[in-house]
Amino acid sequence: MSDKITIAVSKGRIFDEAMPLLAQLDIVPRDDPVESRKLILETNQANIQILIIRATDVPTYVERGAAELGIAGKDVLMEYSGDGLYEPIDLGIAKCRMMLAGVKGAGPITDRPRVATKYINITRDYFANKGQQVEIIKLYGSMELGPVLGLSDWIVDLVDTGNTLKANGLETLEHIADISSRLIVNKAAMKMKPALIKPILNQLSDIIGNKE
Ligand code: AMP
Repeated sequence: MSDKITIAVSKGRIFDEAMPLLAQLDIVPRDDPVESRKLILETNQANIQILIIRATDVPTYVERGAAELGIAGKDVLMEYSGDGLYEPIDLGIAKCRMMLAGVKGAGPITDRPRVATKYINITRDYFANKGQQVEIIKLYGSMELGPVLGLSDWIVDLVDTGNTLKANGLETLEHIADISSRLIVNKAAMKMKPALIKPILNQLSDIIGNKE
């Protein structure tokens, strides 16, 4: 195993909110991923690099050891079915809620409701726990269109301000989970590279603890 640490992060809100945390550990990328278009960013620390990948791929890279560390939303982790990861720290960033939503004022659905979502595992588990039969329709994005066009009765999606739901005539119906981004760690790397990984975990815990 090399003595390099790779941290997998997705572009956008998680990257934007994670970089100030890493900066407090004196880990600063040398390039902006939007401007440089590089997928591997060197940092000011010679042995630490940042990998820019899709949010849903972060657990896969970390579980398989292509990255030692990753930052992933709880939504992605709940949907991912692997067990080769530690999830030691809630970073408290990119906060939002996983919600069930439907057309505003539509009232109860009498038949077996159709639920459009990209979170099929979370949705299946949620309704199984409630003992409610639903038909799940897999979509890859723009879930809000489902109920608007009659493709589905409800959607399961992330909600932050609620503006996207409102703009499309939808309202929240049920709260499924609170979401924030977590630090994830490859299990083997934790054993093989403790001298590199433990200080990062300890410093991040201190920063998060001080914020609360
Ligand atoms: P909002 O209009 O502020 O409620 O944001 C809702 C839209 O932003 C939806 O398309 C969500 O999928 C997306 N979204 C909100 N919060 C997050 C987050 N923390 N991570 C990823 N996507 C999010």
